[in-house]
Amino acid sequence: MSWAYLLLPVIVEPSDHPFRLLVAGGAMVGVALVVTMTAPLKPQALAFIAGFLLTFFIGLALMAGDALIPNIIGMSALSLGVMIFAFATAHQRIFSSDMLVENQRLNEDLAEALAHSEFLAKHDPLTGLYNRRALFEQKLIEEATQDEAHLLLIDLDHFKKLNDTYGHDTGDRALIAASAMMRDALRAYGSGHHFAVRLGGEEFCIFIDEPDRDKALVFAEDMREALAGLHNSIGLPAGATSASIGLTRHKRGDTVDSSLLKADAAMYDAKTSGRNRVRSVERG
Ligand code: GH3
Ligand code: MG
Ligand code: MG
Repeated sequence: MSWAYLLLPVIVEPSDHPFRLLVAGGAMVGVALVVTMTAPLKPQALAFIAGFLLTFFIGLALMAGDALIPNIIGMSALSLGVMIFAFATAHQRIFSSDMLVENQRLNEDLAEALAHSEFLAKHDPLTGLYNRRALFEQKLIEEATQDEAHLLLIDLDHFKKLNDTYGHDTGDRALIAASAMMRDALRAYGSGHHFAVRLGGEEFCIFIDEPDRDKALVFAEDMREALAGLHNSIGLPAGATSASIGLTRHKRGDTVDSSLLKADAAMYDAKTSGRNRVRSVERG
């Protein structure tokens, strides 16, 4: 409509309305400003400004009479001002929306980094199992669904010798394979809050959300057997791997420390009795 208003006096009676063009131009400027400031996209604002200029120069070309010179000067000055302001405003808006997008991306990156560092704080980087710190936070163990559960302390036998004989990398692969075995066994165990922890070195702890002592013993025995067969999955000769396991009961409210101490004593018993065996605390 502003375009039509701008062109109308020029087309119909150009010389009789010397200042209507200026007034109409002013109206155009207002519309241009509003559109430029609210246009969501840069091309839209640019298209609008281009259209405005085209119309303006068509208007001038059609014009005749005394009003031509003052109108040219006035509209040129006005449009120059509008152009500068419009571009500055559009640029500011685009810059702001770019900043918004960038901020959102940074927020997402930050949340991801936070989640990652939280994961790293509670997990062992080599095996992906929970680490000692996660276990000692106590919260992990308190998520047990049963009031009584069992805790296994697992120490791989003669691991130093395995490292010395086959290399540290093979030792690492053994630790990774042992962890995978534990994870798989717990997954297969069924419902409950079971989890495995790498306490450090070649020492692990498994928490099974299982109150039945006999079932826990069977699980521990199966785990021992699986770890004695670990050599198969990493291409080592028979007898290269085995583990000594200490088992204890863990009641709700017991501290991690006290249960670990009991399991450790049972594990030590397994070591001194010849390794590659399960020992349990009788009244744990
Ligand atoms: P035992 O049967 O009495 O438990 O003997 P062991 O050799 O298993 O126990 P010891 O404590 O003497 O040695 C543990 C070895 O575990 C020594 C260390 O080099 C090795 N170890 C600890 N952490 C890692 C690891 O991240 N990677 C590898 N490859 N070896 C590790
Ligand atoms: Mg060991
Ligand atoms: Mg050890």
